[in-house]
Amino acid sequence: MSFDLSPATTVALTSAEPRSASAARSNRPRKSWKRACLECGDSFQAFQRHGQFCSSTHRKDWNNRRMVRGSELYDLFMICRHERGLAKAKGYWNLMCRMAAEWRFEDERDRAGRKSWVADDTALADRCLPYAATVIDRGFLHLRKK
Ligand SMILES: [Zn+2]
Repeated sequence: MSFDLSPATTVALTSAEPRSASAARSNRPRKSWKRACLECGDSFQAFQRHGQFCSSTHRKDWNNRRMVRGSELYDLFMICRHERGLAKAKGYWNLMCRMAAEWRFEDERDRAGRKSWVADDTALADRCLPYAATVIDRGFLHLRKK
C-alpha cells in the first residue's frame, strides 16, 4: 500500500467547505462585556461571560491571595467549630477576627480599598464558592441528631 502525498492531495484536503465557513465566522465581531478587573480595578473587555480579570496574572494574584488566606483560616475555623474548649482557651475566634482586620488593612493600603472577596449575590460567588452552593442546595436534611 502506498499513499499519495503530492501537493495536489494536500490542497484538496485543506480547502474543504467547513474551513471557509469557519473563516466567515471569524470575521464577525467577538462578543464582549465591559468589566472592571477584580484585582487592579482597571476597565477591560471580557471575551467570556464570566471574565473578571484583565490578565491571567491578575486572576492568579486574586486566587493565590484567597488560597493563602483561606488555608490559614481553615484549621482555625475547624478548631473553633469542633474543639470549642481549645479554641476558647487559645482565643482563636479573636485571632481570626484580627487576621481579617489585618487583611482588610492590606486591601485598603495595597488595593485602594477594593474588596478582596466576592459579593455573595453574584454568579461569580457561585463559581468561587461551589461547595457553599452545594451545601445550601443540600439543605439541612443530612444533619441527624446523635
Ligand atoms: Zn487587572
